[in-house]
Amino acid sequence: MWVTRFAPSPTGVLHLGHVASAMSGLSYARPGGRWLIRMEDIDPQRCRPEYARQLLEDLAWLGLFSDAPVLYQSACLAEYRQTLDILEQMGVLYPCFCTRSDIARESAAIFSAPHAAPDGSLLYPGRCRSLPAARREELLARGRPHVLRLNMQRALECAGGAESLYYNTPEGRRVQCWPALFGDVVLARRDIPASYHLCVTHDDAKQGITLVTRGEDLRPATDLHCLLQNLMGWPRPHYTFHPLLCGADGRRLSKRDNARSVRAMREAGMCKEEVMRAAGF
Ligand code: GLU
Repeated sequence: MWVTRFAPSPTGVLHLGHVASAMSGLSYARPGGRWLIRMEDIDPQRCRPEYARQLLEDLAWLGLFSDAPVLYQSACLAEYRQTLDILEQMGVLYPCFCTRSDIARESAAIFSAPHAAPDGSLLYPGRCRSLPAARREELLARGRPHVLRLNMQRALECAGGAESLYYNTPEGRRVQCWPALFGDVVLARRDIPASYHLCVTHDDAKQGITLVTRGEDLRPATDLHCLLQNLMGWPRPHYTFHPLLCGADGRRLSKRDNARSVRAMREAGMCKEEVMRAAGF
């Protein structure tokens, strides 16, 4: 009996890709388990409360209800801050004052080709990691904007050997993790004391998720999440990945594909069974 979750970011309306993702988690949770909805709404630039409302409304129209009150990440910022404090005390975080262009410039100077992490983000070359303590204190005292990065090398040392960095799939396969490929990732952004990786791992532990069902695009990030779980002593869920739904052009469906939105389908007179079928269920 699995506890699974559907964790959309309310940056647009519910589309078929969402439905496929929600149903993937639900199919493991039924019968007998629990299926929870979580709003990953920490990004104030991209998330809107009215999208969250519409997502829940469309899910309700499909007959999909969370088995516990919906968790809003925007209401948990103090908990993310506490997690960062613990990681800071462990000595695995450091403030980074580099701007995007500093990083691009330094990358170009060090590497012959751009070095990207498995999620496509630029690998951090590490300038602020070796900043002298006095300079770091001075910049902090002056209130210079900064992010908090994970010192990957130290984190790996603290988290135990590679043999403890793996997850299991529901079919009983054991998958080795390689978080080092991400380099010194950002765990707290400039504008919010949190990041996707921190919040998602924190909340899966907080909500007692035993099986994370997520899109193939998030497979590499899972390695990083396992490292954070080791550092924090959080339980490790099982993981499984569903294919991303694509449009006729073969591109991944996104909120730009308005014709694939559940709302547009409802308004065109489709019933919920037809929408489910269109999502592959
Ligand atoms: N919020 C993430 C998204 O919308 C999914 C959460 C996860 O499985 O990590 O892509």
